[in-house]
Amino acid sequence: MDYQEIVKNTKALKIEPNFSNLKKINREWSWDNIETDLDIPEKKFNQAYICVDRHAEKTPNKLAMIWESADGNIENYSFLQFKNESNKFANAMINIGLKKSDRVFFFTDRIPELYFACFGVLKAGGIMAPLFSAFGPEPVAERFNRAEGSYIVTTPNLLNKIEAIRDQMPTLKEIIVISHRSEIKHIKNILHYHEIMKGQSEKFEISESKKEDWSVMHFTSGTTGLPKGAAHVHNALISHYATGKYVLDLHPEDIYWCTADPGWVTGTSYGMFAPWSNGVTSVIYEGGFSAKKWYGIIKRHKVSVWYTAPTAIRLLMKAGSTLPQSLNLESLRYIMSVGEPLNPEGVIWGEEAFNLAIHDNWWQTETGSIMVANYPSMNIRPGSMGKPFPGIKVAIIDDNFKEIIEPDIEGQLAIKPTWPSMFKAYWNDEERYQSRFKGEWYITGDRAKKDKDGYFWFIGRDDDVINTAGHLVGPFEVESTLIEHPAVAEAGVIGKPDPVAMEIVKAFVSLSHGYEPSDELRRQLIGHCRNRLGPGTAPREIEFIETLPKTRSGKIMRRLLKARELGLPEGDTSTLEDD
Ligand code: ATP
Ligand code: MG
Repeated sequence: MDYQEIVKNTKALKIEPNFSNLKKINREWSWDNIETDLDIPEKKFNQAYICVDRHAEKTPNKLAMIWESADGNIENYSFLQFKNESNKFANAMINIGLKKSDRVFFFTDRIPELYFACFGVLKAGGIMAPLFSAFGPEPVAERFNRAEGSYIVTTPNLLNKIEAIRDQMPTLKEIIVISHRSEIKHIKNILHYHEIMKGQSEKFEISESKKEDWSVMHFTSGTTGLPKGAAHVHNALISHYATGKYVLDLHPEDIYWCTADPGWVTGTSYGMFAPWSNGVTSVIYEGGFSAKKWYGIIKRHKVSVWYTAPTAIRLLMKAGSTLPQSLNLESLRYIMSVGEPLNPEGVIWGEEAFNLAIHDNWWQTETGSIMVANYPSMNIRPGSMGKPFPGIKVAIIDDNFKEIIEPDIEGQLAIKPTWPSMFKAYWNDEERYQSRFKGEWYITGDRAKKDKDGYFWFIGRDDDVINTAGHLVGPFEVESTLIEHPAVAEAGVIGKPDPVAMEIVKAFVSLSHGYEPSDELRRQLIGHCRNRLGPGTAPREIEFIETLPKTRSGKIMRRLLKARELGLPEGDTSTLEDD
């Protein structure tokens, strides 16, 4: 694509970025230095200690969390309060029988008690396993059983779903209900947060906690198939802290907001561990997406660093740039995106709406932290996911698992093990875990290319790449081209089997407000893509649809578009967003 490089993010640079010279830092990088920087006492290598207690000792009154409820109430919590509450919960969990590495599932709304409880579980030696609260009962039971869970922490509004499946979870010991607003009425066989917390000490001594002890289990988004339970260890915090400092560019005075739900890895790695290990104030919003509300949050809480996702950006684009411009969101200095490729249009729209280009970065549940990024000090090439994080060797490899050195050649995106936040297991699925390692590489399952200056460009999921008349086409490039057209709000592109070409490129398009489907518009869109991409890559078929099927974490599910097109079974749809 012929977008011009966007020059440095000048507002971010009003603060000296935590690093300004990628080449130099790459040369000098050592994970040991990060550990020295963190200065963790022996046997206290615990994510909760590093995120909470360390700051409670040094800056007890600093705000850890600004919480805004869905109906607009605002509450502030200091690091000291956080420490005390999480200590109490740790004591409560030990009291009810939690043993080291027991899996504690979280199936809750985004309320302060969720965060206290998560850190309490980590302090007590348990593994926290967050789930997205919009799941139905079956996906919860399925994941819980696969991980042989012991406890479920939930909220009153979700309790029905858990009670419905209680009998289907043989390893379940207790259900704990947390609530924010009111005392919960007593229900038989359910433990209540306020009751189990009563009389608990605010002191808790983290018992011997080691780097390689299990800490978090996250289920992947299920974009390509059955979600996998990727398990991480406390040492992951080294990566969260380092990427928080150098990619999120967190400074002590920042007010940071990550819009992801903790049910997905972005909501924990970057909604909890990265900001809090850096001692930064984090905004947590209980409610869901709404352009007006989201801008209100940035304005009210003076958010300076904002981490969100392409679907949200596309929805904000749909709502227009007049609103953010008129609100004058001057506190914002730096915006990032993750979860899917960010279309070049999105990067550029950031400049129009906020006077800030949006910085894309790439990683996965399995990698645990950001692997490739556009850094605040680096020029952005819109559509590129940026350059590898220091200390991480990312490569494009061929089908024989050999690195492709020549630039601009497509191949599999691979990473050389190991790094601190790398997953250590797919829980109870060793075979699948091993299948992700080939030769000296961890295979990400994505395809990409690298340009001569070292920028990486996402092509598509390995499963999604289209082979049309011997030519490989990545859906992302076609989708991004379609989105450039004003009529197109979102696009999902698949390969449709064809007797002559093997596959043809087929696009599913949802239209922007004010546009109606028509043959004329279809011809226009195909023409637009032909001009931009050439006839081999442009879609041959376009189908207009109301909305694209997406995961609850906001990713386009191309496998569903394909299954529906071919009349095949849809496979696992537990993470499919409601229509
Ligand atoms: P599953 O593995 O269950 O199919 P998933 O891969 O969507 O689900 P996640 O770990 O949440 O689960 O997502 C990671 C994937 O999301 C990456 O492998 C990549 O395909 C995509 N992704 C994330 N960020 C980006 C980005 N900035 N650019 C391109 N793709 C991205
Ligand atoms: Mg994946």
